[in-house]
Amino acid sequence: MRARPGWDVDDSDLVERSLRAGLSAAMATDAFGRRIDYLRISVTDRCNLRCVYCMPGGGVAWRDQSELLTFNEIVRFAAAAADEGISKIRLTGGEPLLRKGIADLARRLRALNGVESIAITTNGTLLPRLARDLAAAGIERVNISLDSLDPDAYSGVTRGGRLKNALAGIDAAFAAGMRPIKINVVVMRSLRQDLVSLARLTRDRPVHVRFIECMPIGGGDDCGGAGWGVDDWTEANHVPSDEILARLAVEGAEAGLGELESVEPDDAPGGWGPANYYRFEGAEGTIGVISPLSHPFCSQCNRLRLTADGNLRTCLFSDEDFDARRVLRHGTEAGLHSLIHAALAAKPESHNLRIGTVRRMSQIGG
Ligand code: SAM
Ligand code: SF4
Repeated sequence: MRARPGWDVDDSDLVERSLRAGLSAAMATDAFGRRIDYLRISVTDRCNLRCVYCMPGGGVAWRDQSELLTFNEIVRFAAAAADEGISKIRLTGGEPLLRKGIADLARRLRALNGVESIAITTNGTLLPRLARDLAAAGIERVNISLDSLDPDAYSGVTRGGRLKNALAGIDAAFAAGMRPIKINVVVMRSLRQDLVSLARLTRDRPVHVRFIECMPIGGGDDCGGAGWGVDDWTEANHVPSDEILARLAVEGAEAGLGELESVEPDDAPGGWGPANYYRFEGAEGTIGVISPLSHPFCSQCNRLRLTADGNLRTCLFSDEDFDARRVLRHGTEAGLHSLIHAALAAKPESHNLRIGTVRRMSQIGG
């Protein structure tokens, strides 16, 4: 447990008294009593891929460089957030590995008082070049997006990406010693994905393949261009996680993967998120399912998000922005703390299965 500035961290009696008085020592909680200790920081809205569920084919208008938070601003914000009880940070985007100096940023964030772990979510294509530096900078945990193991299907869903680059990224993460390595698979009916071939990755390596229900994000004013969004997400294209699991159980057994067993939380790969884990008999890695729509996990939500252009967001599905960039550029450190408190107070109880948001996933930071 961390104490607020000025408190003696080792004085457990003092901390205990403050807790009895109803104060939580640097332990951010929201209005619904949820402990918020996880911050996802988007470092860029740019990407080298154009996944069909995330970006329109023609791309989106990038934010001007001057609108993006500088590394100094990100570190200042993260320091204030860590004072408030954030201990886990994930770097994301857009594609975070496109941001020059990303390993230096990771190193600086990892060194902040109170920050215990740094993770990254990436499409993996640039990991062969960067995995070693990222690992040396203190990034252990990595999530790599990979929706198909068929080169043509991968190229189709990413609109031009090369499967071999993403696979080389996974190998590079292993070689650099990053753990746990999780593979994110967004499932859409229209993609006709071979889920079992992805599940097979767990057999001989400790890799954790997570199947994620596709979410209706984007489509609003900021998105620009036609493409994925409110108009494109349909109930018919949504594959609920129960169906994903049922398919995996049947098709996995037919393919010789054995029985799909549930994994007790203590045996699951440590995580900060909402996945439920399973394992094919004797497999090294696990299968996860993430069900934001069919089994919402809002009551366990532990996160805040900072967009690349400096807006603090309380929920992926909420368009309410708290302008941290303005405070970072024109305000005070006390102002930053007030902004975080305001965001915590405004964090909604649930996303109520909302359809569409003003921004796309790549512009928020998935
Ligand atoms: N570019 C990196 C990547 O693809 O991993 C990081 C950013 S991406 C926005 C973060 C995650 O969001 C990825 O795992 C991606 O598959 C997921 N994602 C994007 N759009 C989504 C959607 N509409 N529904 C569910 N997941 C989505
Ligand atoms: Fe880029 Fe990631 Fe969005 Fe795909 S999901 S377009 S890789 S930001």
